[in-house]
Amino acid sequence: MLLPLIKDRYSTTIHKTGSEEFASINSDYEFSLGKGVPIFKYFYVMHFSTVVGQKDLIRHFLNEVNNEKVGHAQLFLGKPGYGSLPLALAFVQFLFCENKGATDSCGKCSSCRKVQNLQHPDLHFSFPTVQAIGKTSDSMLGEWRQQLIERPYFNLNTWIKKMDAQERKPIISVHESEEIIKKLSLRSYEGGYKVMVIWMAEEMNVSCANKLLKIIEEPPKKTLFILLAESQEFMLQTILSRCQIVKVPRVKTEEITQHLKNTLNVGSGEAESAASMGDGDVIEALSLLGSHENQNENRDQFIQLMRVCYKKDVLEMIQWAENTAAVSREQQKVFLKYALHMFRQSMLQNYTEDHLTKVSEQEHLFLEKFAQFISGNNVFDFMKTFNEAHYHIERNANSKILFTNLSFNVMRYIHGA
Ligand SMILES: [Zn+2]
Repeated sequence: MLLPLIKDRYSTTIHKTGSEEFASINSDYEFSLGKGVPIFKYFYVMHFSTVVGQKDLIRHFLNEVNNEKVGHAQLFLGKPGYGSLPLALAFVQFLFCENKGATDSCGKCSSCRKVQNLQHPDLHFSFPTVQAIGKTSDSMLGEWRQQLIERPYFNLNTWIKKMDAQERKPIISVHESEEIIKKLSLRSYEGGYKVMVIWMAEEMNVSCANKLLKIIEEPPKKTLFILLAESQEFMLQTILSRCQIVKVPRVKTEEITQHLKNTLNVGSGEAESAASMGDGDVIEALSLLGSHENQNENRDQFIQLMRVCYKKDVLEMIQWAENTAAVSREQQKVFLKYALHMFRQSMLQNYTEDHLTKVSEQEHLFLEKFAQFISGNNVFDFMKTFNEAHYHIERNANSKILFTNLSFNVMRYIHGA
């Protein structure tokens, strides 16, 4: 599990990072990945150059701003771990920068500094809040800024934990839409764009979304809406149709590996394996890195699941589900990611040269025998089931029932290769 541990948020020491770019970032800080893992340095991501990967999209944003063709309502679609929020921040910083370079904001002008400190008067944020704690984003702005500064790659789960010890479900309510309209009807302080970033836009309830339709369709001059959502599945059609869709794809494994190696004290093998298991998701890769010491447990748990399901031993399957449900949710999620990684590796083992697979020696021995049970006939079922399980664990599903169901599905699929 990733445990951020701020040592010195406003450290005056400039850490050597191997890149000039990072020296201008004033919010260097250190965090720990927990037991047995050394303390690493991480930083405040705001420049395009500090976004992990996404080079094509960055080029697209540079063109938009340079050609003065910025769409007034853009919906970024992609998992938080693909970097939609850091991208949005870097985009806004570039848009506001008074001394733009060819490929990035300067990071030094007064606009850049205000964006970096999350204090730019024309940059507004809107995000889900637990209504019992605060009805609008402004009530949680301190926590929000702290989260962005600590770690701009984060997901809804992290945000919920930060806001509320009881972990209640947050929403973006109609009170928030009133605030949004109020903020955007004011004149821009700095005379340029006014930007409203709506994070986790799928958490807007219907009355909030309906209230925003008009202003999204016909915004005041020089207004930019950036909505961020994981998928369009839960977005109202009326909002979707008013936005320019920007698909934020998975980050390339090599780029995540490089990022982990550049920014954290990890070896190549460790970085590569976390990046590969993270499947294009920086948040996942970081959390997998922290759980590296549990890798053998994941492997044993995976092998056991496959064995008992292959034997169709229902009692042992239930026992397995109970054991798995007993570990922490974070660990359960890591296990599910690990299983997805093993399915992918099995396919690679079957259809490509052995040396392409990214596994340890013991895993390799297991896969040599196991891979024959994974084929085009069942791999999509496996992937879908394990991905859905991950989704539901993140949303507090009953893990005993979930893992029992999962094992029954595995039993069906494994005999259908
Ligand atoms: Zn600047």
